Amino acid sequence: MNKAELKKLILDILLPQHLKCHSCGREAIVNDHGVCSECESKVLFVPETAGIQGVDGFVSGMQYNDVARRAMIPFKYNGAVYKKEFLTHYIRIPESWSFDCFVPVPLHPKRQRKRGYNQSEIIANALAERYPHPVRTELLERLRDTPKQARMTKKERLKNVKHAFRASDAVSGLSIVLVDDVRTTGATLFECAAELKRRGAARVYAVTACCSMMEVNNGN
Ligand SMILES: [Zn+2]
Repeated sequence: MNKAELKKLILDILLPQHLKCHSCGREAIVNDHGVCSECESKVLFVPETAGIQGVDGFVSGMQYNDVARRAMIPFKYNGAVYKKEFLTHYIRIPESWSFDCFVPVPLHPKRQRKRGYNQSEIIANALAERYPHPVRTELLERLRDTPKQARMTKKERLKNVKHAFRASDAVSGLSIVLVDDVRTTGATLFECAAELKRRGAARVYAVTACCSMMEVNNGN
């Protein structure tokens, strides 16, 4: 083993997975949230104008471009949960939001069993470390395992998620921050917020790690 190999081995032991960029996957010098300088320079922020109807406030960490997508896909589908460091790094919850708890958008229990985790819950737990409020997964459940929405229009998405969620009566009077991975049209967050308010939630805000700007710019 030469010096370089020894150094790499030691770093691998001390800083597992920190040697590879969370986005492009190259071995590189990465920053404290796991991305190389090239990927970091391509992160784009989300303008404050990207609101969602029926939701009292919305923020997202970054635009869902290639840099974000390359981290999100393995985070969501292949168990690469450590990528939460990068995916949640840019989220800033406004000081003006006064809230009681985080509620991740639930998966259907069948899907969660298959995947082994709910990616939105992992994002919520990461946020709860920075913004000390409890994560309450028991307040909202998914009743139907809705088909994937990737190729649907906004109208189809709204229909797809309609009555797909049920909130507990315990949400009555609470101010809630909904947490999801990617906002596309906002149909899922719209439906969750509507259900939480039907059950008496006082306010519902929403936070996502990423936001697809194509949909926002199309007036959705
Ligand atoms: Zn990179």
